[in-house]
Amino acid sequence: MSYRGRFAPSPTGPLHFGSLVSALASWLDARAHNGVWLVRIEDIDGPRTVPGAADDILSTLDRFGMHADEPPVWQSQRMARYEEALEQLKAAGLVYPCGCTRKEIADSLLHVHARNTTLAYPGTCRSGLHGKPARAWRLRVPDGDAAVITFEDRWQRMQTQNLATEVGDFVLRRADDQWAYQLAVVVDDADASITHVVRGEDLMDSTARQIYLQRCLGVPTPSYLHVPVVTNDQGEKLSKQNGATALDNDKPLETLRAAARHLGLEMDDEHATLEDFYTAATAAWAKRMAVRVQRERGGRV
Ligand code: GLU
Repeated sequence: MSYRGRFAPSPTGPLHFGSLVSALASWLDARAHNGVWLVRIEDIDGPRTVPGAADDILSTLDRFGMHADEPPVWQSQRMARYEEALEQLKAAGLVYPCGCTRKEIADSLLHVHARNTTLAYPGTCRSGLHGKPARAWRLRVPDGDAAVITFEDRWQRMQTQNLATEVGDFVLRRADDQWAYQLAVVVDDADASITHVVRGEDLMDSTARQIYLQRCLGVPTPSYLHVPVVTNDQGEKLSKQNGATALDNDKPLETLRAAARHLGLEMDDEHATLEDFYTAATAAWAKRMAVRVQRERGGRV
């Protein structure tokens, strides 16, 4: 199947250095594979979407020379597809309504999620709403061995997550009526025939959930590559919430060189144009990924 990749920013503010690193990695991987590169605006989370941010991100990508091969897709225009996917899961008996509040879930928990601070849902409403009104829709995750999802990340190698103990039945439609990121991203990647997902490591923890959801919906699983996230001086992931500043649109080359350094790409700094930079960076990316593959092969012998 021919390569189709994507960059999927949430328009919660202007593009910052951390999101540029993800954009650059996905762009270079698509170029190295001679593939198609798409942009999807993840404006599904109404309360977090900042007016004007999406256009700002699109014009920054343009200014930095990353041009999508097809018009951008906007999640806010795809609600009917998410509804269809939920209906398919309802018909298959894989989802159930949940009446729990966050506080009720926290109070009933025995342990805290090991990999991040998300609490594993204990399955209270699996057997019915217990007289409470329905607030959200959850996907039932399997028990036992079937709950263990394993995948090979192209950068970070083998990954395993037990959905039953580390996540629990997860939300597809939220109590505030918003579609959950997990459902939207799986439906959108499948509809766009995405073959390769390249994104920040902060989303690694969501990948097992997405693979399980793909299986429930009967759609293919793309290959995954999660690049190291950029952190601030306190070691926190750089985000709009902790004060990451917008990129300087007047210095694309300098900023791109810094992003390439963050990705560990070995290349000199002698590029006069964006196209020169991308040619050199694509070669460095291809070399870097190939080196990793060879090392893995060597390790197994
Ligand atoms: N919209 C997500 C973010 O900006 C990325 C989703 C993805 O790449 O799967 O963090």
